[in-house]
Amino acid sequence: MKLARFCRRDTEHLGVVEGDHIQAAEGDVFGAVRPTDERYPLAEVKLLPPVRPSKIVAVGLNYKDHAEELKVELPAEPLLFLKPSSAVIGHLDPICYPPMSHRVDFEGELGIVIGKAAHHVPEHRAEEFILGYTCVNDVTARDLQGKDGQWTRAKGFDTFAPLGPWMETEIDPASLQIETFLNGERRQASTTANLIFSPRHLVSFISQVMTLYPGDVIATGTPSGIGPMEVGDQVEVVIEGIGRLVNGVTSHDAA
Ligand code: MG
Repeated sequence: MKLARFCRRDTEHLGVVEGDHIQAAEGDVFGAVRPTDERYPLAEVKLLPPVRPSKIVAVGLNYKDHAEELKVELPAEPLLFLKPSSAVIGHLDPICYPPMSHRVDFEGELGIVIGKAAHHVPEHRAEEFILGYTCVNDVTARDLQGKDGQWTRAKGFDTFAPLGPWMETEIDPASLQIETFLNGERRQASTTANLIFSPRHLVSFISQVMTLYPGDVIATGTPSGIGPMEVGDQVEVVIEGIGRLVNGVTSHDAA
């Protein structure tokens, strides 16, 4: 099921996406979802981020093909960092290019959405805590990432965490094509079969460090082919069976 949050006539709704329509639903994404008989063309609603995470836990190098490209050894354990909840935007919301940076990159990633509080979860039970999967763009101020030595500023600007366009709750993430397009040109292409640490492993590993809350998102790392964006560009993260997350880049803080 493709679960979305959307806005229509200034009211927020939960919805179930089917083809090019969205069916409004009652209930709670973390509990029971009950579709109503209100149905709208997707083009007539404003999609919101599918969840409002308390935090986004992101993973550094996690694709075998990216490690080969960089000629580095595979990491022994996941490298974690955080993106703040204030960075979250939805499908078609603008990524604002911060004046502090002169190099802002896209990183297309598979996002894991947590469904219930996860604390010290063993790997064989991790799936019970996963509600679904979404597309993430781990937008990064590459120049500041190198300059600062740690990544809070580089990864944390407002609008640097596009999520969406919805989450898919019934998909096996083991082997999904993942692609990123810049102005329609394909720049990243890989498969989640190349992930070094699987979604189940990441949920278990991270839950040994910090409690994951319902709605928290894990950004699972990006494949090879990252690159810069400029003001006026359009970036799309496309994951097979999930959807297409589209965002433009603007020079001003639209918020
Ligand atoms: Mg990343």
